[in-house]
Amino acid sequence: MTVQQEMKTLTHFIKGEEVAGTSGRFTEVYNPSTGEVIARVPLASKDEVKHAIQLAKEAFPAWKKTSIGRRVEVLHRFRQLLVERQDKLINMICQESGKTREDAKGEIVRGIESVDMAISAPQMLKGEYSVNVGGNINAFSAKSPLGVVATIAPFNFPVMVPLAITSMAVAVGNAVILKPSERVPISALYLSQLWKEAGLPDGIWTVVNGDKEAVDELLENKEIQAISFVGSTPVAEYIYQTGTKHNKRVAAFGGGKNFMIVMPDANLEQTANAFLGAAYGAASQRCMAISGALVVGKDTEQRFTEILKHKISQLKVGPYTEQDVDFGPVITKQSKETIIRYIDGAVTEGANLVIDGRHPKVCETSNGFYLGPTLLNNVTPEMTIFKEEVFGPARIVVGVDTLQEAIDLINDHELGNGVTMFTSSGAAARRFQEEIEVGMVGVNVPIPIPVGYHNFGGWKRSKFGEGHMFGPDQARFFTKAKTISERWPDETEDTTSSFAFPSNNDAKS
Ligand code: NAD
Repeated sequence: MTVQQEMKTLTHFIKGEEVAGTSGRFTEVYNPSTGEVIARVPLASKDEVKHAIQLAKEAFPAWKKTSIGRRVEVLHRFRQLLVERQDKLINMICQESGKTREDAKGEIVRGIESVDMAISAPQMLKGEYSVNVGGNINAFSAKSPLGVVATIAPFNFPVMVPLAITSMAVAVGNAVILKPSERVPISALYLSQLWKEAGLPDGIWTVVNGDKEAVDELLENKEIQAISFVGSTPVAEYIYQTGTKHNKRVAAFGGGKNFMIVMPDANLEQTANAFLGAAYGAASQRCMAISGALVVGKDTEQRFTEILKHKISQLKVGPYTEQDVDFGPVITKQSKETIIRYIDGAVTEGANLVIDGRHPKVCETSNGFYLGPTLLNNVTPEMTIFKEEVFGPARIVVGVDTLQEAIDLINDHELGNGVTMFTSSGAAARRFQEEIEVGMVGVNVPIPIPVGYHNFGGWKRSKFGEGHMFGPDQARFFTKAKTISERWPDETEDTTSSFAFPSNNDAKS
């Protein structure tokens, strides 16, 4: 049987059922480790998305009225299923994204953290109450779900990002539509089965597969109340501008250029170990991956580069099916070509190749989309490789003279997702934390991604809109507040009309 005959045709997941695509448009899903096509996924038409939204809208009122305790019971069961089916999920993630098994497991554990946070929804939904704000009037605030909300995910976390942007939305009572990346739809569809098994009512979790056409319907449809997007900066900006033009609440998380400042007083051996995993893990396809080192002082720069060169040359690139692989392929052939263009361009602009990963050994025997780890130095802030996010294993070393110069370069960069600094000086670390214009900041921490109960989000062009991922801000983003003032007068009270603007006259006396 040929690969073509074995290829699975995927579906959407609408009103609790797998629904075949009817648009007639499909795209291929690859196993990046082998270069083979493993499935084809339907690309929804606007009409298919409209229909899914309508069914979600019909399901919403009953879920909204379901007590928060019952809603959270479903999340508890869902969490349990994620743990029990972890191995199956790991296989799916590895197959469609090329991640190593260890890395896939890490993303599931992080995804479960956001389910844990959603399980705390009863605490998050508690309102405020004030007694006797005036004339026997009590005032309180209450949070209501928004209705049908849309979430749009990138390829690089097939499970973690869908969980991070949907779990709290479901818990606080919304009907959620997920548009996964068309490059990794298999894991997201499997999550649908787990929600159904956990007892989530049909229509509260929907998956529409698709591309720009499906996204545009979500952005324009008047029934969609909010959009949580995760992806590249140009698309995030488009989502924010189009979504807000259609009066939606939008949080759009974009790309990153995340630097590691290396101070002369840092332990260079430890710092280099931290750099390796944070810079090259997942083939550098993480929005919080370390993009490069800003090393303070010429001598430190030379020593750090030498240590990195030695360590990087020992890294192993290959398929997730092999033991001891440090990272796998990039997501597509096109992505590989783009990264090679960045490396070639940097060399043309004057950068020096310390380690060249453009032709890794594994490519001699595999058609997978592999790139070895690449390190460039003599990089300057004017070069494209410094200015733009490179979503693959080409990393840079930039020499600076002072901490202030490093802080200024980072603050002048248009992206501001994550940053970290390695030092043994508390005073330098405090100055760095105070002055740096970046959303997620680390000190002696390789990837400063916040734990699930803290808010996640970058600054500058790494995030558009005000919502955060993970953390307590999600409960605010996916609800709207109502403030109620109530009075129940008895017959003896003076209730004559007053034409003055309501105020608390007693307060002035
Ligand atoms: P992408 O922007 O290409 O795609 C993200 C989603 O948007 C996908 O579902 C895709 O189908 C859709 N999309 C793509 N082009 C579109 C268009 N023109 N109009 C409407 N929708 C469109 O991103 P990607 O390549 O899948 O993911 C990698 C990017 O995501 C990187 O830039 C990475 O830094 C970023 N990312 C950011 C975070 C964060 O939290 N800030 C997290 C993960 C990934």
